Amino acid sequence: MKDFWLGLGLCAATLPALVFAQAGRAAPPDHYLVIHAGTLLAVPGEAPRREMTIVVKNDRIAAITPGYAAADGIAPAGSAVETIDLSRHFVLPGLMDAHVHLQDEPSIGRRGGPPRNPPAAAEHAVNAIIYARRSLAAGFTTLRDLGADDRSVFAARDAFRDGRIIGPRILAAGSAIAVTAGHGDTLPPDRTGDPQARLEDGTCDGPAECRAVVRFQAKRGADVIKVTATGGFSSNTGLEPQLFPDEIEAIVATAHLNGLKAAAHAYAPLAIRQAVQAGIDSIEHGFLVDDEGLALMKKSGTFLVPTLSASYPPPVFRIPDPASVRLRNEHRAFERAYAAGVKIAFGTDAGTFTHGDNAKEFELMVKFGMPPMAAIRSATVATAELFGISEDAGTLEPGKTADLIALTANPLENISALREIDFVLKSGRIAKRDGRMTEPFSYAPVGPPF
Ligand SMILES: [Zn+2]
Repeated sequence: MKDFWLGLGLCAATLPALVFAQAGRAAPPDHYLVIHAGTLLAVPGEAPRREMTIVVKNDRIAAITPGYAAADGIAPAGSAVETIDLSRHFVLPGLMDAHVHLQDEPSIGRRGGPPRNPPAAAEHAVNAIIYARRSLAAGFTTLRDLGADDRSVFAARDAFRDGRIIGPRILAAGSAIAVTAGHGDTLPPDRTGDPQARLEDGTCDGPAECRAVVRFQAKRGADVIKVTATGGFSSNTGLEPQLFPDEIEAIVATAHLNGLKAAAHAYAPLAIRQAVQAGIDSIEHGFLVDDEGLALMKKSGTFLVPTLSASYPPPVFRIPDPASVRLRNEHRAFERAYAAGVKIAFGTDAGTFTHGDNAKEFELMVKFGMPPMAAIRSATVATAELFGISEDAGTLEPGKTADLIALTANPLENISALREIDFVLKSGRIAKRDGRMTEPFSYAPVGPPF
C-alpha cells in the first residue's frame, strides 16, 4: 500500500487534493482568519506592539499589519473569512514544554493509591490524548514527550498531526535509553536477556547495543532520543553516572546520524560534562551541575531544561526525604546557569505532577531571578531553537505555523497571568475560545477512499 502511493510519486501535500478528487468532492476553500490583537508580542524578547492585525490563511500566518484591518479585501472570493476580536487581549506565540510524560500522571495511581494492574498501552494512549489536550488548553501548542513505555504517545502525536483531533504538536522520544539496572530500565529480571524486550524498553550495555536501541527508537518513529545518564529520584537509583563515556557517545552520535536531537536526564556533574562532551543537545534537570559543566554547556551551546516544577511541591514519589527540593535549593543550578549565559529552554516534567499546570514553571523561573520577558522567550524562541523548528514556530511571523494564544491580562506585568489562557489557535484552527475548548474531533475519512 505504502509502495503504491510512493510509486505514484505522491507526497503528503498532494494527497489530500487527490483524495477529494477521487471522492468526487471539491477541495475545501481556503480559510482565512483576521485577528485583531490589542497587544501583540509577536517575537518574545522584542517589545510588544499595540493594535495589530494577524492574517491567517489555513494553517499559516499570511501577514501581520499595524492597526485593525477589515476582513473584506483580504481573502479572494469564495474563501471563508472570520474576524476574531482579541482587541482586549494580550496575544503571543503558543508555548512549548520540552519535558513532559504524557502517558501518565500521579493522580491515576502508579505512584500512590491502592495497588492495581500496571497500566496498559491502550490506557496510556487515551491518557496521552487527554493530557495533551489539557496542556493545549493551558496554552502549550508544542510538547516534547521525553519517555513513554510504549507507542501510545506516537499514536496521539500522529492523530494530532493529521488533524483528526485538535491537539498540540508533539515531539516524542519513545522509550528512554538506559543501561541495565539504570534509571529507566523497566524490564523485570527474567526478561533482561530478551533482545526484543531490550530494544522496546530502550535498554542497552556497550556502544554496539546502544547504537542498536537508538536505531530501533528511530525506526519506531521517535522525533528525539532521551537517555538517562544518571540515576533518578523516581527509581531510587541515586544520582551518579550510569553510562561509560563510550556508551553516551554512541547514543548521541547515533541520534545525530538519524537527524534526531538527543536529551540527557542528568544530575551528577561528571555525567553532565560527559554528555556535553559527547554533543548532547540538552541537559534535563541538571541540578548538580558544576561551574566547569556550565562553562562547557555555554561553549557548546547546550541547553539546560530546568524542570523546576517537578520539585515544587515535591512530586508524589515514595521517598522519605524530598531530596529533589533540597538539592535544587542547595545547588541553584537554574540561577547559576542563567547568570553564566547558558541557553535555557522551558521544561517542566509534567506527568510527575498534574498535566495542564505547566505554567507554574514560569512563576518559579521569575521567582528565581529571570525577568518575565526572558521566561516567555525561553518557552517560545529558545525552546523552538532546541527543537530545531525555529523556521516554523516560536514567533508570530509570516510563513510560520499559526500557533498563538491570548490572555486577558499582561504576563509581562504579572507572570501568573499565563495560568489563565482565554484563546488558543493551533495550526490555524481555533482550539479554545472564551476560555472553553471547541469542537474536538474531525469525522473526515482518513486516507484514500477505496
Ligand atoms: Zn522526566
